[in-house]
Amino acid sequence: MRDCPHCKMPRKVVRVEVIENGKKVTLECGHSFRDLAVVINETLKTSDSVSVMIMKEPVEEIRKAIQDHDYFKAVTYGCTIFEHFGKLVLISHFRKIERPIGKDRIKYMTLEAVIIMLYTAKLIDDPIYNAILRVKDVRNDFIHEDASIKFTPEQQEVARKSSDHALVCVKFIKALHESMVK
Ligand SMILES: [Zn+2]
Repeated sequence: MRDCPHCKMPRKVVRVEVIENGKKVTLECGHSFRDLAVVINETLKTSDSVSVMIMKEPVEEIRKAIQDHDYFKAVTYGCTIFEHFGKLVLISHFRKIERPIGKDRIKYMTLEAVIIMLYTAKLIDDPIYNAILRVKDVRNDFIHEDASIKFTPEQQEVARKSSDHALVCVKFIKALHESMVK
């Protein structure tokens, strides 16, 4: 049961679809709402306590998701967190090379654009570049599927490997960000 923002009362969940950065929850009354995993803006304010926790301990969150075999969560969080820290790294980098880019421009860049810019600016090397692109592709496959579907053993294995890659990439980009703001 979830509270319907329109009916203002609890309703049974009939469907959960995965969308960019979160889920779309459809209720028995026919209303639906977006349930965002992480909402980021330039001041790093996040939408709720869960998001704050993810941003504080992103590596731990992904590790926990892997332990719980929640590869979907590990992969989607991994992408969101990589995008978040990747943007901060780009902002620091452009400032350093005296090509400051407005934060608003960076904010609306897609994860793919962030990855390509990090790579072309030589901020990430080939292994991280290839790994995070693969994780992103797996995430995109997920968000086109119903989150409630059962994965085949082969898909489960792909998801597990991607979760491990997501963890490595997030650790890397977070450390890079921390080294640049020091
Ligand atoms: Zn409703």
